Amino acid sequence: MPTWKPIVGLSFTTDAFDTYCHSLTWNAWRPSFIVLHNTAEPNLADRPNGFTQQSMKGFVEYYRDEQHWSAGPHLFIDDRKIWVFTPLTMSGVHSPSWNKLALGVEMLGNYATEPFNSGRGAAVRDNAVAAIATLSAVLGLDPATMKLHKEDPLTTHVCPGKNVKKPAVIQAVKDLLVARHPGEHP
Ligand SMILES: [Zn+2]
Repeated sequence: MPTWKPIVGLSFTTDAFDTYCHSLTWNAWRPSFIVLHNTAEPNLADRPNGFTQQSMKGFVEYYRDEQHWSAGPHLFIDDRKIWVFTPLTMSGVHSPSWNKLALGVEMLGNYATEPFNSGRGAAVRDNAVAAIATLSAVLGLDPATMKLHKEDPLTTHVCPGKNVKKPAVIQAVKDLLVARHPGEHP
């Protein structure tokens, strides 16, 4: 059985997450891109108040004790906060082809059926865009290299659901990176 990588288990606002990521250093492992997921189960309706410390405990039990994996995804994002699960400086387990190459970002929701452009789904989207913008800036990643889990040829999961449009997410990340540095472009 692989050695479990203990979780961080902290939640951040988008601003606090940005500060947190600037405090990290990537040495032994450094990700090359980001893979975006949705939890599907639970969906938004299942979690009216988003994730809690109890949710993180449940994910540990699922990934460590049921799947017997060494880790899970790096982030769980809901409409309120960004939860850090697997340390961002270590490889996670979330997408068979890309675990050693990429950060895994989970969004609360089932975007095969739940809207991603309105209501709580849009709040999840905005928090995910902010987190991806921070990670892109801190790691020097081109936002256009982001992948959806379902693009992994080794997965059968249709993840995230069809309401998550990759070009729109990438554009929103690019727009936010520019907006965060007003005047620093000609
Ligand atoms: Zn996925």
